[in-house]
Amino acid sequence: MNDAYERLLERYQTITDLEQARMVLGWDQQVTMPDGGTPARAQQMSTVSALQHERRTDPELGELLDAVEANDPDERQQAVVQEIRHDYEREAEVPADLVEEISRTSSEAQQVWERAREEDDFEQFAPTLERIRDLQVERAGHVDPDADPFAVMHEDDEPDLSIETVERIFDRIKSDLVPLIEEIRERGDAPASPFEAQGPYDEDEQFEFSKEVLETLGFDPERTRLDRSAHPFTVGNQYDCRITTRFNEDDVVDGLLGTVHEFGHGLYQLGLPDEEYGSPLGEAQSLGVHESQARFWENHVGRSRPFWELILPEMRDRFPQLSDVSVDEAYEAVNRIYPENLIRVEADELTYHLHVLVRFEVGREFVAGNLAVDEIPRAWNDRMEWYLGVSPETDAEGCLQDVHWTEGFAAFQAYTIGSVLAAQLDAAMREDLDVDALIREGEFEPIREWLREHVHRHGRRYPADELIEVATGEPLTADYFVEYAKEKYTDLYGL
Ligand code: ZN
Repeated sequence: MNDAYERLLERYQTITDLEQARMVLGWDQQVTMPDGGTPARAQQMSTVSALQHERRTDPELGELLDAVEANDPDERQQAVVQEIRHDYEREAEVPADLVEEISRTSSEAQQVWERAREEDDFEQFAPTLERIRDLQVERAGHVDPDADPFAVMHEDDEPDLSIETVERIFDRIKSDLVPLIEEIRERGDAPASPFEAQGPYDEDEQFEFSKEVLETLGFDPERTRLDRSAHPFTVGNQYDCRITTRFNEDDVVDGLLGTVHEFGHGLYQLGLPDEEYGSPLGEAQSLGVHESQARFWENHVGRSRPFWELILPEMRDRFPQLSDVSVDEAYEAVNRIYPENLIRVEADELTYHLHVLVRFEVGREFVAGNLAVDEIPRAWNDRMEWYLGVSPETDAEGCLQDVHWTEGFAAFQAYTIGSVLAAQLDAAMREDLDVDALIREGEFEPIREWLREHVHRHGRRYPADELIEVATGEPLTADYFVEYAKEKYTDLYGL
């Protein structure tokens, strides 16, 4: 019944507004709030979260979903119902005391993890990790008692791209990228980085330069902001998009490519339809799709040779110490592979996915109960050795390096999905546009428009798997990513 649909949308609008208000509070906390503001802000955030939870789990919301579904909804209405129902079931089916216990355990776990990492002592963390696993498995059982708990955890972020799809992607990465990285390692001679040699770089100058680059890429000044924060992030909606970045005094490329990455996230938000603000049709699809937008701009634009032909002259104006750096040197430097690196957050475009694979396999075995908690360090190190040919000497550089297990077990594959999808979109776009020529000329509008037309404007109209088919003409496949990586790195490393 139409009336039920209207009421459903009204309720969802309130949920969206609360979420947006919480995000602005969070943005302010990380960007402009004085340090002393924390106690009041923590209180405000928890009040808004509680209100959100109340609205999201309101039984009347469930009744409205049923009512709309029973009354022959059209396709758009069906899409709206499906997206709202996904979130509703994940919150309403889980008992409140379990939600609370997970939240308390995981925030306490952060301190336990911190100390364990500092002291390089996995045993300190092990009982907590086991407890989190048990709680998360219990939660998964409430969401879907018949499903594999790890699949439920994966579906929290990526409901429409199955765990089997992720496995197929990782199989391709194992069969094609592992040997490629091995070849690169055997070559030994990594290209030099002229950027590091020419540092330091004034951070205010870097900030101004990032703004200039955003202008070049076409970030709408009426609806956007750039600020600095300890960890780069993007928040907002189609009307008001805020990105942050951070700078490394020694390497100007870090901040630049970080800004370009967040620009991709931001552009996605700005491309969502204005008139659908407050409905799922005005929201971004899954984490993996969001990440694909960021990685398209960071890797397929920001790490391309034409981009460096365009940007290097601007960069030399700002940083005269780069006057002798050539386009080729710059291009090689931003695409350098570090096969010896043990740390995920410092990984390059290729080896990053093997770090994700290690976490995927260890997390999955642990959740399934096939791996005891005290076997984790060994399982981790073995996989680092298999896939990257290096083994950490300490757990602090191994399985204790990320805080992620305090939050959940199926987190990072969205980043791999993002890279794989970015390459697929890039290939589809090249059927329609001369992407290299446009980048070289600084003509980014056709590229932005292509993404808006094929991805952004749909919001959550299609589930992620269908959206990918609508946008590229075929289901998600690792073919394009593997092809792109082989072509680029074979050339760069003279393999
Ligand atoms: Zn991102």
